[in-house]
Amino acid sequence: MSYLVLARKWRPVQFKEVLGQQHVTTTLENAIKSGRIANAYLFSGPRGVGKTTIARILAKAINCEKGPTITPCNQCSNCIEITESRSLDVFEIDGASNRGIDEVRNLRENLRYPPNKSRYKIYIIDEVHMLTVEAFNALLKTLEEPPKNVLFIFATTEPHKVPATISSRCQRFTFKRMSIKRIVEQLKKICDAEKIAIDEESLLTIAKKADGSMRDAESVLDQAFSFCGNEIKYENLIELLGIIDSDLLFELSDCIKTHDIQRALTLANNIFMEGYDVNEFLIHAAEHFRNILFTKATQSVAQLDVSEILAQRYLKEAAEFQEEDLLRYINLANETEYAIKRSSNPRLKFEFALAKMVKMDSSLKLSQLIERIDGLQRNFHPVSFEKAPISNYQPQIIKDQPAGRSQNRPQHLLLADRKSEILASFSPTVPDGPNQEVVPVENKNETQKVTMVDIETIQSSWELIIETIRKQKVALAAFINEGKPTAVDNNILEITFRNDNGFHINSIMNNKILIEKIINQIIGTPLHIKCVKGDLPMDNTTSITADTNINESAPVDRKINDTLIEEVVAAFDGEVIG
Ligand SMILES: [Zn+2]
Repeated sequence: MSYLVLARKWRPVQFKEVLGQQHVTTTLENAIKSGRIANAYLFSGPRGVGKTTIARILAKAINCEKGPTITPCNQCSNCIEITESRSLDVFEIDGASNRGIDEVRNLRENLRYPPNKSRYKIYIIDEVHMLTVEAFNALLKTLEEPPKNVLFIFATTEPHKVPATISSRCQRFTFKRMSIKRIVEQLKKICDAEKIAIDEESLLTIAKKADGSMRDAESVLDQAFSFCGNEIKYENLIELLGIIDSDLLFELSDCIKTHDIQRALTLANNIFMEGYDVNEFLIHAAEHFRNILFTKATQSVAQLDVSEILAQRYLKEAAEFQEEDLLRYINLANETEYAIKRSSNPRLKFEFALAKMVKMDSSLKLSQLIERIDGLQRNFHPVSFEKAPISNYQPQIIKDQPAGRSQNRPQHLLLADRKSEILASFSPTVPDGPNQEVVPVENKNETQKVTMVDIETIQSSWELIIETIRKQKVALAAFINEGKPTAVDNNILEITFRNDNGFHINSIMNNKILIEKIINQIIGTPLHIKCVKGDLPMDNTTSITADTNINESAPVDRKINDTLIEEVVAAFDGEVIG
């Protein structure tokens, strides 16, 4: 299989063939037509976008035997010599390897002689910012008193490194990075002409890899052609380029949607075993979440550089994520990518990041949280509590799940998601949460009905239960916080206390009805409590310490102080964003 070297073969030879730089070519064409050619041009812009290509077309346009013309013939000896880089009047100089004073002195010496056989002597100096200070100074003298019929064309990727004394004497053009759409169009044209079969996904992948440079896109296409032959398929291409398959990224967002940590860790393992670069994966993951975010924010896929099939997937995906969460995933992917470069155990960091994404609960704005807790405190008086209806939130009724959520999701996860709703349900002033699922309780009188509620559901709501009790009786909350819900059987919830907690148990049993009502409100299932003594693990890190200094009837301090923030963050397993 022969190597095409498409970049050379498809290099534009006319201004009109140059893609994406019309603002430059039009101005140059006008200058040529009106005979007002500057002494020096400075072309700046990213690599591979056509700076030296346009410089050569300009040189031909000026020196063509049939010119000056905006359409050089590309057939006369002047044109051909320029194309083949052997013109005696057009010099292409690489600034990086000819950066010293001596080279510029030679150049100035050379200027004393008139053009050999063309209208102009033309010096194309690429990467001009690489010249030394002395070389620039020598060049400046020439630019200050430009000899007749000499044209300088400077090209640079770093225009800020070109001294102002030089750039101010040039007519400046800023070249643009090429859009992915444009690159795809051009690649398609090349493939059609070269009889290469290629799918849309591959075209987009190459265009993205090229990062705005047509030349790079063409060399990737060259590689793909020599690797895959006349039929370039996406699955072969991603293998060649080591690019992350988009299916893996959707797999990650599925893991997040279903809170499936095991699946996320399997994904992490697969990425490792398949030999993908984890940083590459994180970069793509950040881009993936950015795509979801853009789709969600704009309600359209117009700004995504993805294939039609992927665009449809993003439209679906956007409906299932919150903007705040997406920002956190992007942030986490970026931070991890940075951290991994410094880590002695990149695999661990990578797995941790994926697990963290899966475990991040839906974000709520802190102000909203505090407002809701305020509402809870304001509205949760014993009197109104007695009249409060039995909660409609019955975790065993898992109906009307939004599409895409796992039906097998454990109850306690569902309930954890709905903490905010549960809080909001105590406060008539706060609108209901987003996933409201109000299902009428079928028979309110049938309180003895044995319903299914698992201990995990209670444990995951335990902090909320204690917090709610605390609004009623601070000391009681402190007592019950010493115990742990350990089992539930036949509607009897067993709370285990240390052997020396007898006093606590007495107080709790004296307030049994209140506690049971609160549990019913939160869990949605009537339960009786039973206190037992036994061994408890020493873990108390997540418990809420009752502050006995707080007067129960004191009005809530609305100031958002640090303590409250900490408490809220702790209560909701949260973290403070930005
Ligand atoms: Zn010509």
